[in-house]
Amino acid sequence: MNIIEKMRLDGKKGFVTGGARGIGKCTAAAFAEAGADVAIADMDLEEAKAAAKEIAEATGRKVIAIGCDVTDESQVQSMVDEAVRELGDLDFCHANAGICINAPADEMTYAQWKKNIDVNLNSVFLTDTIAGRYMLSHGGGSIINTASMSAHIVNVPQPQCAYNASKAAVIQLTKSLAVEWAKQGVRVNSISPGYIGTDLTLSSPTLQPLIAQWNAMAPMGRLGKPEELGSICVYLAGDTSTFTTGSDFILDGAFTCF
Ligand code: NAD
Repeated sequence: MNIIEKMRLDGKKGFVTGGARGIGKCTAAAFAEAGADVAIADMDLEEAKAAAKEIAEATGRKVIAIGCDVTDESQVQSMVDEAVRELGDLDFCHANAGICINAPADEMTYAQWKKNIDVNLNSVFLTDTIAGRYMLSHGGGSIINTASMSAHIVNVPQPQCAYNASKAAVIQLTKSLAVEWAKQGVRVNSISPGYIGTDLTLSSPTLQPLIAQWNAMAPMGRLGKPEELGSICVYLAGDTSTFTTGSDFILDGAFTCF
C-alpha cells in the first residue's frame, strides 16, 4: 500500500461537532471523501441534516446528522451513543464546535465569560472524555480538537479575552489527554486555524468589518478557506499519524510568525 492509500480512511467511523457549517462541515466532507462514514453533530439539526445529505450525495458515504448541544453532558453522551449505534464503531472524532464573544474585559459580563468557556472548553472536555472512554475500551482512536491561533497570540483589534483563554486551555487539555492515553492507543491532537472565512467571521457584525485590517496584517494577505483545513484532519484521523499525539498544528498562513 502506498502512502496515499495508507492515508485513506476507508472503513473508519467518526463524528464532527459543529459540523453543520464552516470548518466542521469541511472536515466532515474531507473525512467522507477519504472513505469514512461520518456523523455531523450540531445544535442546528436542520442545517446538520442538509450538510449530511449534501456530503453523502457527493461522496457515497454514510453521513448522518445528530442534534446535540455540546455543552450538555447528557446530550453529548447520547450523541456519541447514537454515532456508535448508527455507524457501527468510533475511530475518530473532531471536537470543533465553538463561538467567539467579543467584549472588552472590563465590560464583559461573567455570563459572557462563562458562555464562551462552556462552549469552547468545557464542551471539548465532555466530547473528548465521552468519546475517549469508548475508544479506550475499543482498541483506540484519534481525537482532534479545534483550538485557534488565538491560543498563541492575542488578536487585535478586537477584544476577546474569554475566547483566547478558552482556546489556550484547549491546547493544554489536548496535551494532557494525549499523555494520559498515550499507551492505550488513543491519540489527541489539536488544530489552530488562523482567520478563516466562515459565518463566525464573515457574518459577524463585530468581526466582519475588521477583515480588511486582518488581511493587511496577514503575510498571505487573505483569510484561510475552511477547505484548507481538511487534509490535516484526515491525516490526524488516519493511520499515517500513529506517532503524532499531543501536537498542535497551526494553520494560519504564517500570521503568528512575527
Ligand atoms: P461557524 O460559526 O461557521 O460554525 C460553528 C458551528 O458550531 C455551527 O454550525 C454552530 O451551530 C455550531 N455550534 C455552536 N455552538 C454549539 C453548541 N453549543 N453545540 C453544538 N454545536 C454548536 O464557526 P467556524 O468558523 O466554522 O468555527 C469552528 C471552530 O473553529 C470553532 O471552534 C472556532 O472557534 C474555531 N476557529 C474558527 C476560526 C475562524 O476564523 N473562523 C479561526 C480559528 C478557530
